[in-house]
Amino acid sequence: MDALLTAIMLWLSANYNLPATFNHPRVEFASAKELTSRFYESAGRQNQAGMVLNQSESDIVSLYHNESKTIYLLDGWNGKTPAELSVLVHEMVHHLQNVGQLKFACSQEREELAYKAQNGWLGLFGRDLEHDFQLDGFSILTRLRLRPTRRVERVGLRRGLVRG
Ligand SMILES: [Zn+2]
Repeated sequence: MDALLTAIMLWLSANYNLPATFNHPRVEFASAKELTSRFYESAGRQNQAGMVLNQSESDIVSLYHNESKTIYLLDGWNGKTPAELSVLVHEMVHHLQNVGQLKFACSQEREELAYKAQNGWLGLFGRDLEHDFQLDGFSILTRLRLRPTRRVERVGLRRGLVRG
């Protein structure tokens, strides 16, 4: 995992002006239920960031926790598809933002770069958020403007992306 995190970190640093660091996050796996309760537990706090929800299941597939510098991925994640890797890319943006102590006016601003980088990563494989996550510019804006509720946060992963 470390080599992968290093590669992603270098790519993000080179392309998105994020501070490079070899201080990698911890990566843990959790069930959809655990991720969801973790997210709602800390919802509204600056402390947590970053999630991508699975539209078909309305589940959270990833989270980043600032204090513990931990990325949580859904059980079954194996990083074998560009889309799965892009979830890790998204959360690595939050890690670099956190370790680099970057300041943001609001959580929307913090998310904007994470989605941009995730989309850029997918672009390396001829894919994009809209194709793999049914997530277009409008949905992202809508999602970012509104408070986190289960309904509006459903941004969607293509069914079958996350196994297990
Ligand atoms: Zn995010």
